[in-house]
Amino acid sequence: MSKDREGSTIDVAGKGESRGRATPRVDNGFSWSVSRHDCLAACARRYYFSYYASRQDPEIARLKRLSALPLWTGSVVHESIEAFLKENDRVPPLEVQEAFAHSVVHERMVSDWRASEANSPQFRLFEHEYDVPVEVEDKRIAVGIVKRSLKAFFESDTLREALSVGRQAWLTVEDLVSFEVADVKVFLRMDLAYRSANGKAVIVDWKTGRSEGRFNAIQVAAYALFAAEKGWVSSADLIETELAYLAIPRFTRGPVSSSRLDDARAFIVESARNMRSLLVDPDRNLARIEDFPRVDRPQVCRRCNFRRLCFPKGEVSDALSGRSASD
Ligand code: SF4
Repeated sequence: MSKDREGSTIDVAGKGESRGRATPRVDNGFSWSVSRHDCLAACARRYYFSYYASRQDPEIARLKRLSALPLWTGSVVHESIEAFLKENDRVPPLEVQEAFAHSVVHERMVSDWRASEANSPQFRLFEHEYDVPVEVEDKRIAVGIVKRSLKAFFESDTLREALSVGRQAWLTVEDLVSFEVADVKVFLRMDLAYRSANGKAVIVDWKTGRSEGRFNAIQVAAYALFAAEKGWVSSADLIETELAYLAIPRFTRGPVSSSRLDDARAFIVESARNMRSLLVDPDRNLARIEDFPRVDRPQVCRRCNFRRLCFPKGEVSDALSGRSASD
């Protein structure tokens, strides 16, 4: 982090604001999302870079967009499924499924990889940015996850059910949506939601990781909260959420209770309150870097998009061998 950034105050007053100007608005730009909560839980400094400094500094915004291999793999799967769902109304024959997966791997992934190697402003892998060696085995694993995930998607009962009820019963496909919890604007991106034949709202979250994410439970609860707030159903027990672990594959579908919705609402309010308490001026959504300490966990820093800012001379490797990463 350069000295001139230390101690600066960042004013984020909404998405349309000109860079560097401090113009407060009634909507001060503060919002809540599960990924924002997750980011703050990992490292307060990373949170500051991601949600405040990146709005002001194009280089920090570029670092924020870096995609590490597992994240990229997940994006490829999500975007491929979204493209399929938006253009198809029936499960295609096996050879068409295989051709689809083949084009995802040999066109989309190869194109992304080349763009990253060329330092494209559109797409850059974390590994290329930080010269982290990518072994042949790493690539093989990434391709394997994409292929297995798409195969599981095509074979899933979830896809069959979604197609059988028809597009008119779909509630959302990868739309970025927002709603209010108390006075907080909450953003969500739902992978797929539809009304099943028995009238329930089924909310599906595609996963390409093998393990439970730290905040999966709150994420699906927030989806259910959105469904209830938008009036998709008349009561919580008419909502079902499904975590679809495509790479395994395993599909975990469960009901939602009104107490779970209450818990989700309370969680969001408390998390947002904590975020605002870190701001030098919560009303104007003003943040100062010195109020967001660096985490003292070198393993976290090693995989962080912003590590160049915290360790400009590459000291993260020293930290990994025992030196503190804290200020
Ligand atoms: S490099 Fe470490 S301390 Fe710096 S933002 Fe990332 S996780 Fe936080």
